Amino acid sequence: MHQHHRALGLAPLSTAGINVTGIDIAKQGPVQPVTLVRPHAAARAAQFFVEKFPGKAMYAVKANPSPELLQILWDNGITTYDVASIGEVRLVARTLPEATLCFMHPVKAEEAIEEAYFTHGVRTFSLDSLEELEKIVRATSRDGVPASDLTLCVRLRVSSDHSKLSLASKFGAGPGEAAKLLFETRQVADALGICFHVGSQAMSPEAYSNAMERVRAAIIESAVTVDVIDVGGGFPSVYPGMTPPPLEAYFETIHRAFESLPISYSAELWAEPGRALCAEYSSIVVRVERRRGAELYINDGAYGALFDAAHIDWKFPVELLREPESNAKDVEFSFYGPTCDDLDYMKGPFLLPADTRSGDYFEIGMLGAYGSAMRTAFNGFGTDATVVVADEPMASMYVELAERQPAWNVVKL
Ligand SMILES: *Cc1c(COP(=O)(O)O)cnc(C)c1O
Repeated sequence: MHQHHRALGLAPLSTAGINVTGIDIAKQGPVQPVTLVRPHAAARAAQFFVEKFPGKAMYAVKANPSPELLQILWDNGITTYDVASIGEVRLVARTLPEATLCFMHPVKAEEAIEEAYFTHGVRTFSLDSLEELEKIVRATSRDGVPASDLTLCVRLRVSSDHSKLSLASKFGAGPGEAAKLLFETRQVADALGICFHVGSQAMSPEAYSNAMERVRAAIIESAVTVDVIDVGGGFPSVYPGMTPPPLEAYFETIHRAFESLPISYSAELWAEPGRALCAEYSSIVVRVERRRGAELYINDGAYGALFDAAHIDWKFPVELLREPESNAKDVEFSFYGPTCDDLDYMKGPFLLPADTRSGDYFEIGMLGAYGSAMRTAFNGFGTDATVVVADEPMASMYVELAERQPAWNVVKL
């Protein structure tokens, strides 16, 4: 068990006992939102990818950079980390000194490339332009001698049609530019890779087979030898109204497409899951400070762990933490966060018992990916209260949670 409690000099939360759950936390009456973390859920996700993904699964650190989480993933077999900034490079190098780092942001500061290469031993970089290729070559040369140990991954632009969150417009070489870029990169790379990102929360394995067709076309057009195929992130988790096919279906589709590419037998298959490895890792316990009709004013929001709920109307499962349990039927609520602006609003709908009122606590689940990672201290509402709990997340891609899952899988969108 561990906990941090620096916020506002409040009484520390007690976490004695091994089977702490959300209701135990609620009973202690915390004034600030509390993050619940589930190391067993992250460990299970890591083991699943290590055992079942037909290649090497790295972890995309931006989804949740918590050092405790990085350590759990490492302990469960994830040895390679997709980093996107020098801050992430330093963080992972410090936390897991033996980890392999891949710098997969296609537009980097030259100083960041240089520090990553010379100080932290990073050898794998992605790029999507000749400009970035020149930058990488310059930053990794010493006394005018170019590096001879680079793995360079050319990022292709692919469709985000099957994904809930597009990553299609910002990065990636298009069909007209890919062949030349692959050819030029081949000249300076020790190993040449092709990578892409189908967008986050890809709801169909087809996203990957379609992207692999783009990869095939680029390989044929450029006639280069390719050593690495990196299918990126996008592996889904489960949220209200978003129940994807099992991850095995994604892995099978990817494996089949990989096997049919015109690449050498020794080529490697990589993936960069972020969300799928950490979505189940954490949730938050919040308190209702006021009710106005179907709107609940709660103590966390858009500037806390609920950025996606506010800005892209992401649906998260919620569960009232009250004893005895409410018998009222569930109705649809929207939430206001604690800051003083209208943007701090989560439309939902979120289903809670009709008698939910001020002073109630409830848990918001599945916030391990792009939830805790986005928290700020804006307007004085930051918190770092964290408690390790032993119960199951509200939903899972890795085990059947028959009791809880169906209740909110039927939420209307
Ligand atoms: C964000 C990102 C990931 C992780 O994406 P998920 O959808 O969370 O799996 C992987 N690779 C790159 C390059 C990314 O930008």
